[in-house]
Amino acid sequence: MSSYSKILLALDLSAESEQLREKAKTIAQANNADLYLIHVIEPLSFAYGGDVPIDLTAIQEQLDEHAKNKLSAYADKLDYPVKQQLVVTGHTETEIHRIADEMDIDLVIVGSHGRHGIALLLGSTANGVLHGANCDVLAVRVREED
Ligand code: AMP
Repeated sequence: MSSYSKILLALDLSAESEQLREKAKTIAQANNADLYLIHVIEPLSFAYGGDVPIDLTAIQEQLDEHAKNKLSAYADKLDYPVKQQLVVTGHTETEIHRIADEMDIDLVIVGSHGRHGIALLLGSTANGVLHGANCDVLAVRVREED
């Protein structure tokens, strides 16, 4: 198997992200790869259909700032150098694909609850990332946290 040189770890920054840290680090270390972290913020206008009579810009900026801080704290605990921390706004799967292509990533790591049936069809980001990816995708099994 050829080794991976650029790995993108996708994080929703929930408590479950902690379960991805060790595995991502081990794989990055084993391949001596550049490690990139990404968190995608879905615009508030997506949730409200772009049809709210208030300006959401300030709230969106706060969400952005909060995500950057969380991502940075996550990187600090990785004990492996992070090449770049990316917080981007848009549709999660689309942005992960875009960044993976732009950065020439050869492995994307996502968490997966291993759901099946209708839940998988409806809810899985891992599934969405896998479909349409131009590189390998590793779905790391995570346990649901309360
Ligand atoms: P989900 O299917 O939404 O439970 O998410 C499973 C995995 O997809 C997470 O463990 C992350 O690896 C990735 N993911 C979900 N949401 C995001 C997000 N907003 N930004 C980056 N990665 C995400």
